[in-house]
Amino acid sequence: MPYPLHKPRRNSRQPTDKRYKTKRWLTVRKLVLNRDLWACQITPGCPWPATVADHISPVYPGMPDWEFYSPSNLQAACREHNLAKGTADRMARVNGEDPPRPSRTAYGHPKPKPRIL
Ligand SMILES: [Zn+2]
Repeated sequence: MPYPLHKPRRNSRQPTDKRYKTKRWLTVRKLVLNRDLWACQITPGCPWPATVADHISPVYPGMPDWEFYSPSNLQAACREHNLAKGTADRMARVNGEDPPRPSRTAYGHPKPKPRIL
């Protein structure tokens, strides 16, 4: 095993970007939730209402504003799946794999945007 296992630090678990507190974020978040009809985009047929805007490409330290606030990098998600996805992303990062991405076409989006990488 090449890497010693450390307990994840609190901040590396769920990055609390200060931009989550801005009015701009609240505006974008609402726009995304409305666009996705307040339906969880992570799991098709999810029974919970979407209440959070989830970053499709996870937030990383130093993420530029245009990417942080870009609706094309955001999707509506319920709290449960948002947290579960965060966990999956972290696991995938640890294992060096690309996490599975939900299909955006299942909800009738006219044109799935290419992911920004
Ligand atoms: Zn969900």
